[in-house]
Amino acid sequence: MISEKTLEEHTRINAKVLVLNQNYQPLNLCNAKRAIVLLNLGKADLIEKGFGAIRTPSFSFPVPSVIRLMALIKKPLKLQKLSRREVFSRDKYSCIYCGKETEQLTLDHIFPRSRGGANSWENVASACMPCNHRKAGRTPKEAGMKLMKEVGAPKLNPYSLFTNKAIDENWYKFMPWLAKH
Ligand SMILES: [Zn+2]
Repeated sequence: MISEKTLEEHTRINAKVLVLNQNYQPLNLCNAKRAIVLLNLGKADLIEKGFGAIRTPSFSFPVPSVIRLMALIKKPLKLQKLSRREVFSRDKYSCIYCGKETEQLTLDHIFPRSRGGANSWENVASACMPCNHRKAGRTPKEAGMKLMKEVGAPKLNPYSLFTNKAIDENWYKFMPWLAKH
């Protein structure tokens, strides 16, 4: 059986730690155990302490909440993978031709696939069923239809690492839209 103390230690060891790049930009999240390893190796600086300490018979360490890497990491900006869900989300769940917001969307290849149209961010868009039927295997021009906006790859969000994550108060100052001025 796991004792309450062990459980508590376990929670602390798994506490989420914000890892900042050398330039203070949020880079990723890791657990306290990993953060302490980085701190002990001299690869990171402790910026903010969290709650409590992690203790072993030979060692006691404050639970880190924010650490900063000593070296600047070049994080490659990953291009969002093309998927139906991502295209619908980019197009705000509305039809590119008539603007109708609907859950009954289809993925339209603006320049038809049957004629060599690419499966790319620039050539796919959300279309409602009626518009998709109307356009069929034609280009928008041939079908007499207009795109309501230009489409392309979704904008990259450098702060997407926080999406759906529990945010620690200690992190606010490193999140520009939450930082108190
Ligand atoms: Zn439509």
